[in-house]
Amino acid sequence: MIRLTRFKKVVIAAACGLAMFSTAHAEKVYRLKMAETWQTNFPIFGDTPRNMAAMAEKMSNGRLQITIDSANKHKSPFGVFDMVRAGQYDIGHSASYYWKGKIPATMFFTTMPFGMTAPEQYAWFYYGGGMELMEKLYGKYNLMSFPGGNTGNQMGGWFQKEINSVKDLDGLKMRVPGFAGEVLAKLGVNVTNIPPGELYTALERRTIDALEWVGPSLDLRMGFHKIAPFYYTGWHEPATELQYLVNKRTWDKLPADLQEILRVAMRESAYDMYIQSYHESAEKLAVIDTEYPNVKIRTFPKDVMAALKKADEELLAEYAKDDPFIKEVLDSQAAYLKKVRRWTDISDKAYLNSVVAPE
Ligand code: CA
Repeated sequence: MIRLTRFKKVVIAAACGLAMFSTAHAEKVYRLKMAETWQTNFPIFGDTPRNMAAMAEKMSNGRLQITIDSANKHKSPFGVFDMVRAGQYDIGHSASYYWKGKIPATMFFTTMPFGMTAPEQYAWFYYGGGMELMEKLYGKYNLMSFPGGNTGNQMGGWFQKEINSVKDLDGLKMRVPGFAGEVLAKLGVNVTNIPPGELYTALERRTIDALEWVGPSLDLRMGFHKIAPFYYTGWHEPATELQYLVNKRTWDKLPADLQEILRVAMRESAYDMYIQSYHESAEKLAVIDTEYPNVKIRTFPKDVMAALKKADEELLAEYAKDDPFIKEVLDSQAAYLKKVRRWTDISDKAYLNSVVAPE
């Protein structure tokens, strides 16, 4: 029989206690609530937070569990910022430019007319100072903001009539949100923002003459191609990035490994949305080409593009004049775009211009 001294018994008991404590610690389950701006089962946009939550749960072996409430449940699609800030939800999935009425600077972290493409903008976020600027802004509201998935280049919209000159924009009634709406308004467009569910009827009944939504990935299921024959290429949302918002208090309560799992799941799901959007657009454009040959794909004439660019620059100057932080963001984006576009020009652009298209 092995006889243990009292000291040894104490040491063994303490070691067992520590082992039990660390097992209990490792198995603690963190349950977080997420609010999304989208309706239940909204394709692509809604797939992204679902992918994120599933990945986080698997990677953490069930220690991080995230439930998602869609707009149907919380009834406040544009209240996500306030709800996450208040701690009513731990995480939100939405888009930064939806908060521009509250905080104008938020608009510059989604996409900008004539701005960066998706790879350029991701490079700016992660390596060019974008994340630091976003943190500087959202930190003031006790929030953390992360890229939440990119639609890629958006189409310029569906038009009842062809746009041949700047004059054709004057008096045109169009649904177009964000900074692009302000640019078009400067050229005489009567800009409105209509909820997605009412868009088809508004265009069909000529309440509006034109609208922009996303691109083939999401437009085709809305049916616009049946009622507006002209489908214009984009200029206004070259890289629309959705957003994850995280309440800072929630983040600080998570152990370091779960913080990293959450960070990686958000980043991976955002990247996945970008490639899913690319795939879905290719698929749906093939459907348009084969089943709806009457759809006329157009690019705005050069003088229209020049007028849009001029209006855009005037508006940017006005915003920068009124707000030093916006000036800091716009200066950072302009400097980065100048540098990164030089590379895009002699890489992707030169390649696409020089290769023969596949038959
Ligand atoms: Ca859009």
